Amino acid sequence: MSEEWVRHLDARQRAMLAEMGVKVWAPKARATVVADVAPAAVAEPAPLPTHTPVAAPAPRVSAAQVNAPARAPASETTAEPTAAPPHARADRADIATLDWPALREAVAGCQACGLCASRRNTVFGVGHTQADWMIVGEAPGEQEDRQGEPFVGAAGQLLDAMLRACGRARSSEEAGRGVYIANVLKCRPPANRNPAPEEVLQCEPFLARQVALVQPKLIIAMGRFAVQSLLKTTEPIGRLRGRVHQYEGVPVIVTYHPAYLLRTPIDKAKAWADLCLAMDQ
Ligand code: URA
Repeated sequence: MSEEWVRHLDARQRAMLAEMGVKVWAPKARATVVADVAPAAVAEPAPLPTHTPVAAPAPRVSAAQVNAPARAPASETTAEPTAAPPHARADRADIATLDWPALREAVAGCQACGLCASRRNTVFGVGHTQADWMIVGEAPGEQEDRQGEPFVGAAGQLLDAMLRACGRARSSEEAGRGVYIANVLKCRPPANRNPAPEEVLQCEPFLARQVALVQPKLIIAMGRFAVQSLLKTTEPIGRLRGRVHQYEGVPVIVTYHPAYLLRTPIDKAKAWADLCLAMDQ
């Protein structure tokens, strides 16, 4: 990957990268990106914003300058998926007609796949219900399962920092500065194993309805399972980044999952390029 662009970052762009825990360093001879690999950056993520978010970032890094290799998925496989009891399947077609309260209730009572047996809580979604950005992740982890809110663990802290760098927050009451955050799966797979195809299939109508209700101007798909579910492709993220895709007429930007970025902080710079592409839309 060329890091020429690092030399052209202004002070505010450097500050944004710092929000994401990315240190940039450009020697005179050749620019280089140095990721912050200090464990503290992962263990003690930044708190939610207390300052005024950045409104309109200065000229951004072109995503075309970034060549991303294919990377590993965000989660680990540790257990076999469980099959859905046939009698427990709701009528999935009805989901497309539900309003917010009915949709939330349908998710809370869902028994369409075996994940209902092991979940503590369903994890519906959070944020501004008319936000112009929608973030789609993979599935709840342990903390999300406990608290019933998406992205509240370590990956969520990084996601919040990434959003803050874009002048956005899940708590914003302004659609233009807010986000709506949802996962492909509404229930935690045991031991954070990968979502099974049957689970994704059963859960997809919920996400589709959330998108239809939010009507975002942009979706950011984070990680392999969000990308596969929305774009119906098995292309690796590295080959899908840097261009605008479509889901039901909504532009989609593909980027790495925050959990992956915690394990591979060098790629935070690529994720930043993806966010710049998102802000350009
Ligand atoms: N990872 C996700 O994809 N979603 C969450 O809610 C938490 C971690």
